[in-house]
Amino acid sequence: MNKEIVSDTKMISSTATNKGLHIEEALIFEQGSTDRSGVDLPEISGRSDRLGKLKRLDQIGLPGLSEPEIVRHYTRLSRNNYAIDIGLYPLGSCTMKHNPRLNEAVARLPGFSNIHPLQPPSTVQGAMALIKELEEWLTALTGFPTIALSPAAGAQGELCGLMVIRSYLEKQGDPRETVLVADSAHGTNPATATMCGYRTKSIPSNDSGTLDLQALENMLDNKVAAVMLTNPNTCGLFEGQILEISDAVHKSGALLYCDGANFNAIVGKVKPADLGIDIMHLNLHKTFSTPHGGGGPGSGPVAMTSVLAPYAPLPWIEESASGFTITEHLGDHSQQSFGRMRAWHGQMGMFVRALSYLISHGGDGLRQVAEDAVLNANYIRQGLHKHYSMPYPGTCMHEVLCDDQSLKPAGLKTLDVAKALIDQGFHPMTIYFPLIVNGAMLIEPTETETKEILDQFIDAMITIANHSTSENIAALQNAPVHTPRRRLDETKAARNPILRWLQDTGPSAT
Ligand SMILES: *Cc1c(COP(=O)(O)O)cnc(C)c1O
Repeated sequence: MNKEIVSDTKMISSTATNKGLHIEEALIFEQGSTDRSGVDLPEISGRSDRLGKLKRLDQIGLPGLSEPEIVRHYTRLSRNNYAIDIGLYPLGSCTMKHNPRLNEAVARLPGFSNIHPLQPPSTVQGAMALIKELEEWLTALTGFPTIALSPAAGAQGELCGLMVIRSYLEKQGDPRETVLVADSAHGTNPATATMCGYRTKSIPSNDSGTLDLQALENMLDNKVAAVMLTNPNTCGLFEGQILEISDAVHKSGALLYCDGANFNAIVGKVKPADLGIDIMHLNLHKTFSTPHGGGGPGSGPVAMTSVLAPYAPLPWIEESASGFTITEHLGDHSQQSFGRMRAWHGQMGMFVRALSYLISHGGDGLRQVAEDAVLNANYIRQGLHKHYSMPYPGTCMHEVLCDDQSLKPAGLKTLDVAKALIDQGFHPMTIYFPLIVNGAMLIEPTETETKEILDQFIDAMITIANHSTSENIAALQNAPVHTPRRRLDETKAARNPILRWLQDTGPSAT
């Protein structure tokens, strides 16, 4: 590991040379030439006339590059990315764990990867059997009787959950208008409630980083439709008063929504249905190892009680003696559903990966996932607690929360630690979240890291903290220096976008 902090290195501005790892990669529009092409296409024959007035007369200015140029461009860019396959990715709340290659091999089997949702059901019986089996695993693990698999991610799972709650309450003739959200919640929680048409109010946390039960009780009235709570929460703490919380919520006639993004920490240990929760989403791409793919696809199944099940989204897969069929009627339930969340059943590839992960771990293996995730986070906590201040000292769940209180006297802040970690060869942890902790650093190692890697990470963090007491402080404030780009202005690209190609060479934006 590189512990020295080097002086600024001149960047090499050339796409033809590749010196060391500092590559200044020009945009594809700057590299190619508009009158060059990587392929020879045949002249269009008479058919083009049929386009009539729709036929484009001007060049659109797309750059042409040869095949090797294209391959090198994207391969070089990919080498500038950090990934879970390169090293530890301790991004708290996001659960970036290793994705076993077995899952990938299974997901690529042609019988799973080449099917189409419009295929006749008789030709996709195996895929439907897989979806049913995944449902069985997830209902067993959560303790809920019903699970809707179609939501595309955690955020859409939340939306699905609140739409189910709204349908249910409307049917009771008691629609209600407010959703209470824990102040430590992920930003998707209030966004979801607002998008669903509710007024959102924030429930404060107490000094221990968990929900303030008294404050919640004071806020509950006959206007509250639901309370959204994350357990374990985003401070990495188990909400120990969950049963009291659930009692209070139910007494007021509201429902308890659980953001289950942190299910990783309790899978196989506790069934959320036993905690008085009415409905929750899981993130297959966090707990069950399917990849987070640059904004999608994810998968956010929603598990719920039998009371809410009739309001769940359509469609369902039903099993009968003659096999599996897709249906809009679920068993004996009358049709109360609000409809579909989206086309079809969800992300088939994610289902295959998740089931592969579930089967290969088995029930006991899944319990060990939770135990090891918690153990690893506490190992880091133990390694760091003398070097970093922690707002809620004591045992944590799957992620450990530090802050920059102890670094501030030296003039350092959380952002400096995150940038310095990049020079140490690690992806930074989640920073400045949860919002209720000033200068938060949320570290989630996951169960898939070895003791040696955790030790390296702890060493790197201690090296950074020790620099804060030396003359190296300016170097830390300049980090990172071992990267193609130095410290960037965090907001400039959004505030002053430079759309160079459009301005200089492209068609005028009309
Ligand atoms: C990741 C996350 C979400 C949102 O899930 P997506 O799948 O990214 O939409 C919601 N809540 C918490 C606590 C999360 O960590």
